[in-house]
Amino acid sequence: MNPEPHLTHLTNADLHCHSTVSDGTLEPEAIAARAAANGVQLWSLTDHDEVGGQQRARDAARMLGMGYLTGTEVSVTFAGETVHILGLGIDPDDPDLRLGLARTRGGREQRAREMAAGLAQVGIPGAFEGARKYVANPELISRTHFARFLVETGHCTDTSEVFRRFLTDGKPGFVPHRWAKLGEAVGWIKRAGGIAVIAHPARYTRFTATEEYALFTEFKAHGGQGVEVVTGSHTVAERDRYADMAIEFDLFASRGSDFHAPLESRTDLGSLPDLPSRVTPVWTVLADRVHWPA
Ligand code: AMP
Ligand code: MN
Ligand code: MN
Ligand code: MN
Repeated sequence: MNPEPHLTHLTNADLHCHSTVSDGTLEPEAIAARAAANGVQLWSLTDHDEVGGQQRARDAARMLGMGYLTGTEVSVTFAGETVHILGLGIDPDDPDLRLGLARTRGGREQRAREMAAGLAQVGIPGAFEGARKYVANPELISRTHFARFLVETGHCTDTSEVFRRFLTDGKPGFVPHRWAKLGEAVGWIKRAGGIAVIAHPARYTRFTATEEYALFTEFKAHGGQGVEVVTGSHTVAERDRYADMAIEFDLFASRGSDFHAPLESRTDLGSLPDLPSRVTPVWTVLADRVHWPA
């Protein structure tokens, strides 16, 4: 029997989430189990600047009967802001991709120490050590780990309050950082055989319309091919707007929850609206890279 579900708009694909290999709280196997329990048919684990969980995710998906696409989410600096680019269907062993991701991870510890110094100045000592308690991958300390520490110690009631008060531009724990360049990230993904996808485009709220247009134009020029249309952080209006952008820029459309943790994430794995019928799902072009269970 052929286990492949027909890949359509209605496929329950969830191509964006995080494990303990970056800033999620569940191990790759536990996320896989949660995705399968929620009816996901095609899944991708997309840890920030990492591919260290790919083998475990792929093996777990096979055991659970889900299709699997390899993935990562690369941090990029574009026009002075952080933009996230998903790489789907990549070869996780590609040496250039691995080197590029390792370099992108590189400045995180120093940045975290500076973030902690900023927080100490407003009366929150010990944040580096506090955040580090939540970190499973020593190369990947992120703002999310600081957010968990600040909630646990009672400084804030939830992680979104932490970001609003402490961890975004101009706030005491914010440290500007230079991530990969857009062309580098897209190049690593493409040369590793993957498809580059602009993640959660509505989240780049500091961009002017001109800057957003430049992001899409340059992304295309570098060989980028997709945009996330349905994500955990998009409203219905945003979904429709980026469906229009997908058509205008001739990009494939992706769908992913961006799930991080059971009590933090607004959207659970696999529980997203379908892609609008007018866009072309990114998984239709990735069909030959899906790892199907035997
Ligand atoms: P970093 O890569 O260290 O800059 O951390 C970025 C991560 O912080 C994102 O991937 C999200 O998981 C999380 N994040 C960013 N903004 C927010 C927010 N407003 N509320 C909750 N989590 C956020
Ligand atoms: Mn994250
Ligand atoms: Mn992201
Ligand atoms: Mn993400």
